[in-house]
Amino acid sequence: MKRALITGISGQDGSYLAEYLLQLDYQVFGIVRREPGTMRWLEGIRDRVELLYGDLRDTQSLEVAFYKAWPDELYNLAGQVFVPTSWECPAETLDINTGGLARLLLIVERRKSDTRVYQASSSEMYGNVDGFCRENTRFQPTSPYGISKVAAHKLAESYRARGIYAVGGILFNHESPRRGPEMVTRKITRAAAGWAAGDKTKLKLGNLEARRDWGFAGDYVKAMHAMLQQPTCKDYVVGTGESHSVAEFATLVLAELRERFHGRFTNAKLEDFVELDPRLLRTGEIHDLRADPTLARTELNWKPKVDFPALVRLMVEADLAANGILTPSSLSLGAS
Ligand code: NAP
Repeated sequence: MKRALITGISGQDGSYLAEYLLQLDYQVFGIVRREPGTMRWLEGIRDRVELLYGDLRDTQSLEVAFYKAWPDELYNLAGQVFVPTSWECPAETLDINTGGLARLLLIVERRKSDTRVYQASSSEMYGNVDGFCRENTRFQPTSPYGISKVAAHKLAESYRARGIYAVGGILFNHESPRRGPEMVTRKITRAAAGWAAGDKTKLKLGNLEARRDWGFAGDYVKAMHAMLQQPTCKDYVVGTGESHSVAEFATLVLAELRERFHGRFTNAKLEDFVELDPRLLRTGEIHDLRADPTLARTELNWKPKVDFPALVRLMVEADLAANGILTPSSLSLGAS
């Protein structure tokens, strides 16, 4: 039985990945910082994963967790993930996102150098690029978050040159009902649950025209696993190849409400629910991000199953259910 250690197991990707690896018969270990309140997404598998305490900023805790798990595969998914926070706490962002991987790689190299390492790299590493982003597209990050991810990505590359199997999965935005509530997609679907319940508060957003390549997290964790099964290790771009604006996302959310609540939202327009707040505009805003996932398609045989409208639908459904407006029967598109 293969052993996997996941940092960030309590997060969106960590929880979907843990479910997927259990399906593949892995013994799964996960690093968590604390118990209560953060385990919501692990409820269904809590008795089948072994949780170990640790923090990416604390070498000793990582070392102890690594010894206990003694992993064949290490997935480094933990991180300070929110771009605006990275402007508030740049040093902490670098310490967690870059320093964390540096601590893990040192442990791997010294203790068990055949452990295969997956690093959660990000499309935010590219910054503003015209057209599609590929594995060899130049990185021009525009935030401390992007910089921390580029540095970690390069660190993985340099350990690869030293013989460690380390890959950077350059994942474009991927969402789900488990997405952090501070992220724009989740902000919109949570607000929609409020509108359905009769709340008339308008959602303030900074930029409706920003475009992202949005996929479903449950699909993306399969690419992470596939990357660690290749005969030679290399980086891969993972995305859908399509980009959509925040306005398009919000418009589809409204269409979902229209469909579910006949009559109530028939004449509703986006501006009835959303208002622009220039104070929410980001420094270094990235306008459009679009993946070219050709390498992942051809070499990993990876293709997303959930398209953009289906992703919106499942997120709206889940937030309606979480607010007691829908029964959760038709909800969970897990990682199956
Ligand atoms: P998430 O849901 O916010 O999960 C982040 C996880 O990191 C949480 O489990 C969190 O634990 C943990 N964590 C944060 N700081 C930590 C620390 N100092 N030590 C140990 N654990 C810590 O994020 P996600 O969406 O699953 O993203 C997973 C990874 O993929 C991240 O590295 C992210 O930067 C990267 N990524 C995500 C996307 C995306 O669109 N989702 C795209 C590209 C790359 P707590 O519960 O204790 O806070």
